Amino acid sequence: MGEIKTGSCHCGKVQFEIDLGQGFLALNRCDCSLCRRRGTVMGGIPLDKFKLIAGVDNLALYQWHTNTAKHYFCQTCGVYTHHQRRSDPTQYGVNIGCVDGVNPFALADIPVTHGASESHFDP
Ligand SMILES: [Zn+2]
Repeated sequence: MGEIKTGSCHCGKVQFEIDLGQGFLALNRCDCSLCRRRGTVMGGIPLDKFKLIAGVDNLALYQWHTNTAKHYFCQTCGVYTHHQRRSDPTQYGVNIGCVDGVNPFALADIPVTHGASESHFDP
């Protein structure tokens, strides 16, 4: 059992479900060269708590740097939905702005991961 929440990209072609029964592992923003452009608050979740339910064929994959992390975004509306982490490939980082009923701007004091410094690099 868990708490299933739904989410989607902006145009709705990509849809997912996450099991938030355990909550997010962590919430963060990041100042690495990709995240500072993307600008989203991310929530960590184990891979098996994230399920794509629509639009898998509409996802684009972006990789850079060590090509370990897998960054996914909608090919139609361009919205980043989730990525498989380099720092911990057993986790996805989820764009919490895509999760239904979550307002990232209502959350106070989101820690910033200093991905721009290599020792904390966590795209
Ligand atoms: Zn879309």
